[in-house]
Amino acid sequence: MTQQTRAVIVICDSLRADLITPADAPFLVELAERAAHFAAHRSVFPSTTRASAASIATGCLPARHGLLGNTMALDEGEGLVCRSAGHPDFPDRLRRATGRTLHVPTLAERLRRHGEIAVSCANVSPGAAYFQDPDGHGYVYHAAGSYGPGRLPIDDPASAALNKGIAGDRAMTERFCADILEERAPALAIMWLSEPDYTGHHSPLGSPEHRSAIAAADQCARQVFETVRRLDPSGNDILFITGSDHGMETITRAIDLDTLLVGAGLKRAPDSRDVVVAPNGTAATLYFAEPDGDLVPRVARFLAAEDWVGEVFAGDRLAAVGLPTNTAMRVAVTLAGEDRANPHGVRGASPIIQDPADNESKIGFGQHGGLGPNEQRPFLMIEGGGFAAGARNQPTSLIDIAPTVLRHLRMGQDDMDGRALPRVGV
Ligand SMILES: [Zn+2]
Repeated sequence: MTQQTRAVIVICDSLRADLITPADAPFLVELAERAAHFAAHRSVFPSTTRASAASIATGCLPARHGLLGNTMALDEGEGLVCRSAGHPDFPDRLRRATGRTLHVPTLAERLRRHGEIAVSCANVSPGAAYFQDPDGHGYVYHAAGSYGPGRLPIDDPASAALNKGIAGDRAMTERFCADILEERAPALAIMWLSEPDYTGHHSPLGSPEHRSAIAAADQCARQVFETVRRLDPSGNDILFITGSDHGMETITRAIDLDTLLVGAGLKRAPDSRDVVVAPNGTAATLYFAEPDGDLVPRVARFLAAEDWVGEVFAGDRLAAVGLPTNTAMRVAVTLAGEDRANPHGVRGASPIIQDPADNESKIGFGQHGGLGPNEQRPFLMIEGGGFAAGARNQPTSLIDIAPTVLRHLRMGQDDMDGRALPRVGV
């Protein structure tokens, strides 16, 4: 590859494709005209940021990369316990409990094999940042700690000072454009904004606050794009990709699944380790101390009869939604959504599974995790690198981003779940 061949990715966390409007996101509306615009783009399941980060990084579904959501139950020697994959120590816990982090290589690892470097700046949870490159092949900059190759800590005051939200995203964007894109010019640079996810979790979808967060993310994406095209006006060398990881639904109520299971005689106590619920917003995964025991079908039957459950996946059906069939996680549920508008006219609502680690009520605000039509509505646009403008209507997924990047960088990519996206419309 030539020295100039590069890829730049900007993720606007949680930005629902249908909320990209001329009033709130003028840059993205404009970009949709000049870029390849993937109109049937889908998230993975669970549609959570950390599983999505791993899928974007590996080009594989959770069944293959192994990060099964924002929370996972791990057995660290004393039985299954639900852990947040967002905590900075989670990659180390996962490594200790299972001997590894992700089960397949990331873009950062693949680039390093070719003597190239990936640089990631993220203003999301530490877990979502670190799962782009959990084993330290490139550089990851994050407020909870920055790392270089070999997972060597880097003292980076600019990242340490970042807070989630509009101001932090703007500061990160300035730094990303000046230091990373202009000065260091790595083969792959990824920037992951906290907005509009951060505000969407703390205010109603479509509210003035949420719309301001969408506008701020749009401006950050514009700044990166303008920097990219100043560095490469032809568009031949630097591939520009922008998208989101998932959308959001409005929360209607919170389901205390631990208490329901105990009440049904299917779990010994709320904190018992026979069956462990991993809440994932509008979805949940359930882990079993005896994965082949008869508790698994009994729990699956109980869930199937509950009115707040949308769909239950157990046994071989887990594979149909991209989840593994041979781990302690034996049942997954997506909750029952409703197609109704919130007070700001934004459609789509769903219950969530109560997370015992987060007792703050967020009823009426945004959430995601399941297979609802609005949380499964991320956007994706690709400009430069030979991509012709225009809409593509065939289904695409987060897992198609990594092979598309590798094809541009002239590196092999045929061993991923995803496939490189078509440069011309069909
Ligand atoms: Zn997200």
